[in-house]
Amino acid sequence: MNFPQRLIDGYRSFCDGRLQNEQDRFRDLAEHGQSPEIMVIGCCDSRVSPEAVFDASPGELFVVRNVANLVPPYTPDGAQRAVSAALEFAVQVLKVKHIVVLGHGQCGGIRAYAEHGKPLSPGDFIGKWMDMIAPAAKSVGAREQYASLSDYLTALEHQSLVTTLDNLMTFPCVRILVERKKLQLHAAYFAVGTGILSVRDPETHVFAPIAGARHLRAFKQPRF
Ligand SMILES: [Zn+2]
Repeated sequence: MNFPQRLIDGYRSFCDGRLQNEQDRFRDLAEHGQSPEIMVIGCCDSRVSPEAVFDASPGELFVVRNVANLVPPYTPDGAQRAVSAALEFAVQVLKVKHIVVLGHGQCGGIRAYAEHGKPLSPGDFIGKWMDMIAPAAKSVGAREQYASLSDYLTALEHQSLVTTLDNLMTFPCVRILVERKKLQLHAAYFAVGTGILSVRDPETHVFAPIAGARHLRAFKQPRF
């Protein structure tokens, strides 16, 4: 069998651990369906698993992942749109109370945009997808204004989250619920190297670490 051994081993571990310990939860989820209160829009990046970062169990998070955790603006043109479909389901059917857009450091998609690399294939799917962050790039200004490329990329990663929040608000079903205070939108940022999670304050627009004291205790000896 060519099925990856890593996945076979992982599934065995799942059977011995989580399935054995949480079988009631799985049975209950099957019988009564899912009712997560939080939707997370994250990046495909293998280092930033929302379930791992938020220590979430099955049924708790409704997760959509794509390159650079983006949401295209509302475009009712009849085309198949994966993010819009997931958003519609989360908001209209599951009635989630929060949508968290989870960005991260060293995002390959953001870097690809900043470096204006050559298309990886004739379709240039990443290039076209990442064009969506042009408004964010305009907001952060020229690369030369930043002390380093790393600083510039971090600013772009943060600002791209703001653009995505703006795009979410172009969906009538989202905007109406936000205005009625039945739905909240959040931008969060995970630093891969340190594990620091920052959340954008809607008033000050500053990204500030949450649970900073807990993080310091857990990460006493930074090696980065
Ligand atoms: Zn990424």
